[in-house]
Amino acid sequence: MTTDLGAQDLTALLDSARQDYSELAGRGLKLDLTRGKPAADQLDLADELLTLPGAATFKAADGTDTRNYGGLNGLQELREIFAPVLQVPVAQLLAAGNSSLELMHDAFVQALLSKLPGAQERWVDQGPIKFLAPVPGYDRHFSICERFGIEMIPVPLTESGPDMEVVTRLVAEDASIKGIWAIPKYSNPTGTVYSDETVRQLAEMPTAAPDFRIFWDNAYAVHHLTDERVEIADLLGLATAAGHADRVFVFGSTSKITFAGAGVGFFGASEANIKWWLSNLGKRSIGPDKINQLRHATFLGDAEGVFAHMEKHRALIGPKFDATLRILGEQLGGTGLATWTEPKGGYFITLTVPEGCATDVVARAAEIGVVLTPAGATHPLGQDPADSVIRIAPTFPTQEDLEAAVHALATCVKLVGYEQRLK
Ligand code: PLP
Repeated sequence: MTTDLGAQDLTALLDSARQDYSELAGRGLKLDLTRGKPAADQLDLADELLTLPGAATFKAADGTDTRNYGGLNGLQELREIFAPVLQVPVAQLLAAGNSSLELMHDAFVQALLSKLPGAQERWVDQGPIKFLAPVPGYDRHFSICERFGIEMIPVPLTESGPDMEVVTRLVAEDASIKGIWAIPKYSNPTGTVYSDETVRQLAEMPTAAPDFRIFWDNAYAVHHLTDERVEIADLLGLATAAGHADRVFVFGSTSKITFAGAGVGFFGASEANIKWWLSNLGKRSIGPDKINQLRHATFLGDAEGVFAHMEKHRALIGPKFDATLRILGEQLGGTGLATWTEPKGGYFITLTVPEGCATDVVARAAEIGVVLTPAGATHPLGQDPADSVIRIAPTFPTQEDLEAAVHALATCVKLVGYEQRLK
């Protein structure tokens, strides 16, 4: 292990990293590891959608004319496909527009402006409110809270989900904590899967706030990268059994199943929450894009169809994750300069570098033409107190570009890491 190395050896390692770095600088690289979105070949997999539902095909299974207004709940046949995927009873699952993030944003707006089931007052009337934010997490979640002036309390994400000792203590004692963000499967950016015990505790824990909500963003429910189709416990079912049905808001979408810009988003919750949601939604919309929902139902067929389609994604992006992990292992394994997650699904790998180094690594990479997600983006307000987390998004670049970018990233980690050691 280089951690036991003397100054002389470290200097040699730093010299070698400097040499690699200046060689890379001369190459005029133009690479980007920031984009957590599907590559074009993944989108091609769903191109049949461009011709569906087909000429003069506009009737849903129940006879609904999808061209017209109406049907706030979304098409029954599509909700039936996603009910088992998202672990929500069909009657309590709505199919909406193309983005689940919009639904999460809407949920905040509606909860601020209209009293949630179980609430004594609207959130906007309750003085400063707070949300728990497991870290590392998804920057767009944090931006929503930031936008509405909702204070976020970071909670460490462990291998089995948020640190439940911290969560249960905080929510039990502070009624101004109104909810928690959660990406329960193949979390963005760590790939973390919530354990059954974590899900059970979330479902059952006492909360001081009567209007507490878990924003269960199951964005990567079927996005497996291994033969193991990881399953998580059914939060809505467990919360309902524990007498807390209303604390769960489930979100999901087909953004990374079909088309990221033209998929379908879903919202699932208790009967009371759905009634509340629809009464608010009815003021905002006369109905969703049912033609898009019909074409999705036709294209995917059933839940098995979704799983089969996701195997095709895996065939395309699996090698990109494998290559990233291989290069990190070859370049940084045993150096003591980095650890990284090995996700079984999802879209991201988290690289952890020595404290105080992430900003520098990102800056050094930018100087040689490799764009990384800004250090800190995985934390509320963009502030990673340890300055050590870097998010890697392997799906979008070509295999060749990805491999070059990860090599360059590893070189920057060595450069910054050895420089720090020798300070
Ligand atoms: N939730 C998570 C955890 C994500 O990583 C993303 C996209 O990266 C989204 C939501 C966005 O979902 P949508 O495209 O349905 O708005």
